[in-house]
Amino acid sequence: MGEVLVLVDHVEGDVRKTTSEMLTAARRVGEPSAVFVGAGFDAAKEALAAAGAEKVYRLEAAEFGEYLVGPTAEGLAQLVQRTGASAVIVPSSPEGKEVAGRLAVMTASGVITDAVDVEAADGGVKVTKSVFAGGWTTASHVAKGVAIVSLKPNSVTAEPAQGACADEVVEVELSDVARGAKIVASEEKQASGRPALTEAAIVVSGGRGTGGDFDPVESFADSLGAAVGASRAAVDAGWYPHSSQVGQTGVTVSPQLYVAAGISGAIQHRAGMQTSKTIVAVNKDEEAPIFSMVDFGVVGDLFDVLPQATEKIQSSK
Ligand SMILES: Cc1cc2nc3c(=O)[nH]c(=O)nc-3n(C[C@H](O)[C@H](O)[C@H](O)COP(=O)(O)OP(=O)(O)OC[C@H]3O[C@@H](n4cnc5c(N)ncnc54)[C@H](O)[C@@H]3O)c2cc1C
Repeated sequence: MGEVLVLVDHVEGDVRKTTSEMLTAARRVGEPSAVFVGAGFDAAKEALAAAGAEKVYRLEAAEFGEYLVGPTAEGLAQLVQRTGASAVIVPSSPEGKEVAGRLAVMTASGVITDAVDVEAADGGVKVTKSVFAGGWTTASHVAKGVAIVSLKPNSVTAEPAQGACADEVVEVELSDVARGAKIVASEEKQASGRPALTEAAIVVSGGRGTGGDFDPVESFADSLGAAVGASRAAVDAGWYPHSSQVGQTGVTVSPQLYVAAGISGAIQHRAGMQTSKTIVAVNKDEEAPIFSMVDFGVVGDLFDVLPQATEKIQSSK
């Protein structure tokens, strides 16, 4: 089995859970090596070792913090050539998918995005995808070049592994193409104090049934230490940011507990939350489709039910 490069998902050394998921997937198809791009390696080292990274390539170039994904894609392409890697796994984020596309062009390889699993088969990488809002599962493989795969967060369960995290600095030469889009300003997102949606153990989501008032959803979420999600109807109405949209065209979550409040349960919403371990819904329509998939359903007005639930949880703390 060949070397599999895994692009570390991090923010200035704060390593995201997706990295352990990608390293777990990579172990199934070859010898995983992490690729760390940008600042913060010292802060990331412990987390990378705990995620099972045996070897870490640190791509170094002044441009990494100054430009968008161009330098990352070019650096990875040079590393693929140097190592002869058989596959590259990147996170299925907008940024990760752009890196995957550019890398595929540079290495004349095939790319498969939004994978939910990978396994070794016929000397290559068999990639599983969940398509048409989770209605179909497909298996495919890259027929040309290196297998470049973007893996959806929360689709592979990270398995514990301790790696040596032996790092090697790799100097990369960047072309003018890589410098095509420069970052001229950046602003830190205001922290909500809540866990990140894709990493939270509990997610409470609100839909059109909130009528735009997310207060009961947020209070309930805070009583549980949960992240807040939203249906597309709520997002399209401008009630909640797009980054909070759960579903086919939003994020996929797979928490221990998912609570849907005032959400009907359209197939496109289900596609983003149906693998949650326990699903609870609050809906005033007992015929709402969401009730066909729940472990626990409450037929009632969310403005009555959620405050009562919040109070009970607060008083039992
Ligand atoms: C290509 C495509 C992609 C899409 N991608 C997504 C996606 O990523 N995510 C997504 O969510 N949707 C997506 N959609 C939209 C999806 O089809 C639904 O329109 C959307 O999920 C509906 O949102 P909702 O459940 O909040 O609203 P509705 O379907 O209007 O449901 C509102 C629910 O709230 C209940 N309700 C009303 N008032 C209360 C109350 N006071 N208390 C309790 N319950 C109440 C109602 O009974 C109803 O069941 C997509 C659609 C398309 C075509």
